[in-house]
Amino acid sequence: MKTIHTDIVIVGTGCSGLFAALHAPKEKKILMLTKTTLEESDSFLAQGGICVLKDPDDYESFFRDTIKAGHYENRRQSVEIMIKSSPEIIAELEDYGVRFAKDELGNPIYTKEGCHSHPRILFHEDITGKEITSCLLEQAKKCSNVSWMENTTMVDIIEEDNICYGILAQRDKETIAIESDFTIFATGGIGGLFSNSTNYPHLTGDALAISLRHRIALEHPDYIQIHPTTLYSTKKGRRFLISESVRGEGAKLYGKNGKRFADEVLPRDLLTKEIYKQMKKDEMPYVWLDMTMLGKEQILSHFPHIYQHCLDEGYDCTKEWIPVVPAQHYFMGGIHVNAASKTTMDQLYAVGETACNGVHGANRLASNSLLESLVFSKRAMHDLLALKPKKAKDFLALADETAKKLETSTYKEIVWDAIRKRKEGKKMNSITMSMNVDTLILQALREDVTSEDITTNAIMKGYQSGSVQLICKENGVIAGLPVFERVFHLVDPKTEVTFFFHDGDRVQKGDLVAEIYGDIRALLTGERTALNYLQRMSGIATYTAQTVKLLEGTNIRLLDTRKTTPNMRVFEKYAVKVGGGYNHRYNLSDGILLKDNHIAAAGGITNAIQMAKEYASFVRKIEVEVENMEMVKEAVEAGADIIMLDNMNVEQMKEAVDYIAGRALTECSGNVTRENIAQYIQSGVDYISSGALTHSAKILDLSLKNLKAV
Ligand SMILES: Cc1cc2nc3c(=O)[nH]c(=O)nc-3n(C[C@H](O)[C@H](O)[C@H](O)COP(=O)(O)OP(=O)(O)OC[C@H]3O[C@@H](n4cnc5c(N)ncnc54)[C@H](O)[C@@H]3O)c2cc1C
Repeated sequence: MKTIHTDIVIVGTGCSGLFAALHAPKEKKILMLTKTTLEESDSFLAQGGICVLKDPDDYESFFRDTIKAGHYENRRQSVEIMIKSSPEIIAELEDYGVRFAKDELGNPIYTKEGCHSHPRILFHEDITGKEITSCLLEQAKKCSNVSWMENTTMVDIIEEDNICYGILAQRDKETIAIESDFTIFATGGIGGLFSNSTNYPHLTGDALAISLRHRIALEHPDYIQIHPTTLYSTKKGRRFLISESVRGEGAKLYGKNGKRFADEVLPRDLLTKEIYKQMKKDEMPYVWLDMTMLGKEQILSHFPHIYQHCLDEGYDCTKEWIPVVPAQHYFMGGIHVNAASKTTMDQLYAVGETACNGVHGANRLASNSLLESLVFSKRAMHDLLALKPKKAKDFLALADETAKKLETSTYKEIVWDAIRKRKEGKKMNSITMSMNVDTLILQALREDVTSEDITTNAIMKGYQSGSVQLICKENGVIAGLPVFERVFHLVDPKTEVTFFFHDGDRVQKGDLVAEIYGDIRALLTGERTALNYLQRMSGIATYTAQTVKLLEGTNIRLLDTRKTTPNMRVFEKYAVKVGGGYNHRYNLSDGILLKDNHIAAAGGITNAIQMAKEYASFVRKIEVEVENMEMVKEAVEAGADIIMLDNMNVEQMKEAVDYIAGRALTECSGNVTRENIAQYIQSGVDYISSGALTHSAKILDLSLKNLKAV
């Protein structure tokens, strides 16, 4: 196999890859790869502009606009870094020769897009991306330490023990092993996976598929932005974006009847919903956008390329409305990186749209992505330059082994799987959380902290921000992540937790499950209580999932019981559901269950059922516990809704189920465990309940590791 050695390999030649390269010292050899040509990247397509903190007074408002658009799911630290670094980044761009719009006095002109409270976007006509990226490319081409490979596709990374030693690439069917001290993914978005997208079709999220195969953590792969307004066309290929600044400057949207139907500067996700609603109502594949009120002069000066493109498609946007439709546009999720753009694999960084540093939260604020790409690619380069890289013991052998396992044809499906799976995560009901769970967690915290965390306070004299990782130490099903997060929020509301898994996901030994960022004192104080909940709940979910698996192919549902740890029922019953089981009654007021002692107290089954029917509301089901056929018959005659066959053997249960013949539901109960449940499948009951789910599940081993100051 052909082998190339370099110091740093950068995969992708968009603005993020180029900016990283430009921040490397001249003695470092950089190899830059692109799947097609140097000019074919989304960075060249950016129209609207690039945000900047134009004056310190705008900081609060810029920050607020970003997190509001992001549905408050943004990592605050990343947003702060981006905004505070923006003036320096813009100054660097201007030094490289980027020309932003200026007034006659040479002062910058700022434009505004949806969700920005003030104009703070620098632009160059409506081709800001081309202006920036072509300047960066020109500068990078002048660097003698940078070499280029066009039409070359990264197909895998070469790694061992979670350390990246380079990549495997393909060009003209030839496979090339590229050995490098550091690898930077700058591979852009995922638009190529969609039939309607503003992105280049070759951007198919290859780095995400590769990350998933190598268990590198992703973050929010389902956070995908649909741009509300692209020019409607029946032609194949990329959809042409009608920039948000057109609406920011006053253009209006109309339905078929020529009437406005939405606020044009709503956040992108909300406006997209409104447009889809209107299209459905109108039974049309588009809505109309009216730019005419901007006037010909403004359209030609600020939006000349939009004007020309519309003209090429047969619309004069200075005189007539144009048809627009939403299309996939941007990827907020991606490969999880820290504030230095490092992935969860050593010697591997990710920057630009393929990375998720949390700046955008659940929805990107317009014109923040070019800025974010530049800020964090520069940080990646600075970070890696300070490290001493490890070399592979036998790079060629590793490369050969990797090449043998290549399966690129599955990459698109791998990414789609991750996108779909994320949407299905289980969540604890938020009202249950605030009404019931908070008080219990506070009690647990009080029990642990009492007057003070003496150890933490001895070593930490004041505020110090830091991060710590939640690592899984054995395979299982994770449950209780919202509770884990809540513990830290109750200790310090400013703590930020980033999850890479959802409740119900299967985790493996070594997986990074979450990263927690905040005041180190809060991280240390909350650690034990947060882990206690998570380990117990995950243990129950794991045990339940293993038991449910044994019932596969039957219609039997697995139930828990009230044999829960005092004060832990809300958590343990939730964990059973996460593991795929069902809840029996939650507490004594949740249903009538007449057991042996109730029957004895009432003077027999018939009496007990009669009294229960008279006492309880008619909506309540009545369940009776029986131990032999005689009791079964009496319970059926007396009108029991559910008959619990307690401690009966399989033959007896079969006979009972045959006799009951659908007149009541049947439940098998009595010392059922994961180890013995298989024998009860033949009984034909509707439910099997098992106290073991909550009283005998062993905890799942998880721990907080790698605490560091940030
Ligand atoms: C139409 C449009 C308008 C936009 N307008 C704005 C705007 O006004 N303001 C703003 O801030 N943002 C805007 N954006 C978003 C912004 O342009 C992108 O988020 C940003 O440019 C991404 O840069 P990047 O370097 O991460 O990726 P890109 O510029 O997309 O570059 C990706 C690179 O990776 C390469 N690559 C991918 N996979 C592989 C592989 N397997 N092997 C080798 N190479 C690979 C590609 O060939 C390419 O060179 C817009 C985006 C679009 C599509």
